[in-house]
Amino acid sequence: MIQPILPGAALGVLGSGQLGRMFAIAARRMGYRVHTLSPDEDTPTGQIADLEVQASYDDLDAVSQFAAGVSVVTFEFENVPAATAEAAARCAPVRPSGSILHITQQRIREKSFLTQAGLPVTPYREVRSLDGLNRALADLGAPAVLKTAAFGYDGKGQFRIDAPNRAAEAWDAIGKQQAVLEAFIDFECEISVVAARGEDGAFVHYGAIENQHSRHILDISVAPARVPARVAEEAVELARCVLDKLGVVGVLCVEFFVTHDGSLLINELAPRPHNSGHLTVDACVTSQFEQQLRAVCGLPLGSTEMHRPAAMANLLGDLWTSGEPDWRAACAFADVKLHLYGKLDARPGRKMGHLTALNRDPDEAYRTVLAARESLRH
Ligand code: AMP
Repeated sequence: MIQPILPGAALGVLGSGQLGRMFAIAARRMGYRVHTLSPDEDTPTGQIADLEVQASYDDLDAVSQFAAGVSVVTFEFENVPAATAEAAARCAPVRPSGSILHITQQRIREKSFLTQAGLPVTPYREVRSLDGLNRALADLGAPAVLKTAAFGYDGKGQFRIDAPNRAAEAWDAIGKQQAVLEAFIDFECEISVVAARGEDGAFVHYGAIENQHSRHILDISVAPARVPARVAEEAVELARCVLDKLGVVGVLCVEFFVTHDGSLLINELAPRPHNSGHLTVDACVTSQFEQQLRAVCGLPLGSTEMHRPAAMANLLGDLWTSGEPDWRAACAFADVKLHLYGKLDARPGRKMGHLTALNRDPDEAYRTVLAARESLRH
């Protein structure tokens, strides 16, 4: 049994984006101090934290010094080098552990882990050369999706191959690097399960959340997902298996494709709170960020009960094209909550904030969040 880390202690976050910001808000509310380390300054997390350290993840002296100043280190950005997690682990507990990051940082390792655990994944082949890509395409057929083995995020490092004669173009487009070719899944819908596991093996989850993407970036989430109960229950059981097998201490999200016959394929894992779980901040007794805090601090996990169904819409930098969005208009929706991440530079495709709509009827929550987002445009 680990000694619980209690309010007043300092918690370290590697990474400084919106996930760290919402973690920091939960931590500050509960009386903890928050330190963050990333290569940037005046960051979404740094604006809330007690201490913002600006250093490269490769600066192991800075990482060690940072870890020595906190009671536990966790992540909001999981693509840090293995050496960074190891340096931190010499000075403070790191949760989830660097070995989990190592698996989930690379698609081939992640898919091998899932396959060996007997969990369902999208059919795939490893690819190391153009010849290899041609062989994989002959095996899996087109259309297929070529993805770099090293994780890009939000669809970066991906190329959809519609016909075998586009293999060379795809290989060039992803930079001729180690990759996986996945069969293209003509899915019914996408869902995710955000779950948390304590050091004692306690497990909680937020049920199935339904996700819609636009340009490979999450656009809308709705909870509970509008899928048959059997599909939602099976997704939760698969997520439980993933967290147990990895021995996660913290929050992890499992993303799934739901096929037309109702079977589930795991698309990918994220060993941290997830964009699809942002609606838990307004909709649930315990948010995914407080849950992360409870898990990494060795506290009992909180209730995931939903006050009301919810829908979340991301606000990307594109919304700023004709000036500052009309915040007053969105606030005129009484059941909609506005979240902004404190980012100053609104680039297209950049996640700047989100809206959450609450309603007893998830369909109505979905319609409301779309209308509220539309009202932001001039
Ligand atoms: P990823 O970065 O791998 O999560 O991909 C981002 C999004 O691209 C997914 O959420 C899907 O909407 C789409 N996508 C990725 N891989 C596939 C696939 N094998 N078949 C169909 N759609 C995919």
